Amino acid sequence: MRTRFAPSPTGLLHLGGARTALFSWLHARKYKGEFILRIEDTDQERSTKAAVAAIIDGMRWLGLDYDEGPIFQMDRLPRYRQAIEKLLDEGKAYRCYCSRERLQALHKHQIATKQKPRYDRHCRELKRVSANQPFVLRFKNPTTGVVAFDDLVRGHIAFQNNELDDLIIQRSDGTPTYNFSVVVDDSDMNITTVIRGDDHINNTPRQINLLRALNAALPEYAHVPMILGTDGKRLSKRHGAMSVTEYRERGFLAAALLNYLVRLGWSHGDQEIFDKDEMISLFNIADVHRAAATFNAEKLLWFNQHYLKTEEPDYIAGFLTELLQRRHVDVSHGANVIAVAKALRERSKTLSEMADKATCFYRSVRHYDEKVVAKFFTPEILPILAFIKIELAQLDNWRVDNIDAVVQRTLAKFSLKMPQLAQPLRVALTGSTQSPSIALTLYLMGQERVMRDLENVLAYIGQRE
Ligand code: GLU
Repeated sequence: MRTRFAPSPTGLLHLGGARTALFSWLHARKYKGEFILRIEDTDQERSTKAAVAAIIDGMRWLGLDYDEGPIFQMDRLPRYRQAIEKLLDEGKAYRCYCSRERLQALHKHQIATKQKPRYDRHCRELKRVSANQPFVLRFKNPTTGVVAFDDLVRGHIAFQNNELDDLIIQRSDGTPTYNFSVVVDDSDMNITTVIRGDDHINNTPRQINLLRALNAALPEYAHVPMILGTDGKRLSKRHGAMSVTEYRERGFLAAALLNYLVRLGWSHGDQEIFDKDEMISLFNIADVHRAAATFNAEKLLWFNQHYLKTEEPDYIAGFLTELLQRRHVDVSHGANVIAVAKALRERSKTLSEMADKATCFYRSVRHYDEKVVAKFFTPEILPILAFIKIELAQLDNWRVDNIDAVVQRTLAKFSLKMPQLAQPLRVALTGSTQSPSIALTLYLMGQERVMRDLENVLAYIGQRE
């Protein structure tokens, strides 16, 4: 079993591409076969190095390892040339000199007379070969009969040959077109199963005819349905979808994205959570749904939070540290990052959100928001904060339960409900009204820091009065 992922490096690795890569990878891994990465870069105008880098980087991040590649089509031009010569020698391809104007006029006429627009094979039987005139090479598609295949997802699909064009296999600049290079490569690389988006279904009969002309073995085909936005249109940025690299930057875990992707168009009962090994053992390309999948950003967040909660805290803490460092937050003093990750994972859907919430454990509040100050830093709170500060200072074992006992004592002494104490305290230390339980928040910050911050906030409130 040999599969491939064959992206054109004309843009970043988007979700549709990543899912195609995942399905191809799973199919190869399931059957202990090989998975190949092939970069289809013959469209030199639209291909970029940055896109190649993003694809390779994205694959690495997702852990979709390949056994061969990346193979670049631009490195294989001599091979395509050779295959083209063979077709020409055997009379299976021909030079077409038709000008753009002629083709446009033909197109217009066909539309006007309600015919299907296609090349009229004007040059197919030309005997003369002109030396100076620019030309493309076209494939002599069979004119009769049917070309059919049994798609692993879509079932039996058949096309009438007389519906198909004599497609261009070499552009006037001498480069092979997509349909031709793909066929030579799939054959040379012994690809057994072509898994790709169903926007390629119309290419498949042409590719099968080409493979036959080259006397090559036919692979199996599996065309996976598109991913759509909630409005039923092809998924794009408008629907909030991002590239794989952006998801990483926004604090998504690779395991979450993979799990989300595998569920886009494939299911196993009503199971939602799959780790990679489970995906490999349970995935079956024939179970991929025929209907298009719909992108749901909320669900992706749900998967991400699931993995934030279930992966080992020190693994999560590694990412959190990286993110905080990138934001120039010094994590070398203060709260233990693993403990912070554990405290925040219930309330964070992404690592970025976790980093936002974690910053307060490493930085004292510099400016208080006016509205918050007016609401929480009232004259009445001053003696309460002063009291709890003294109590906390006296703790010689800085543990959550001991801190909680101090909190409870303070509540009792001043006849307060929890929020009346916890909120001003929280605001004083974190600048926000949301954080883990107050005892845990204080614990994570450490005694020294809490003392220092309370001292400062008492002075601040005092001087406002
Ligand atoms: N290069 C093609 C694309 O990016 C993929 C072709 C294929 O998988 O056959 O759409």
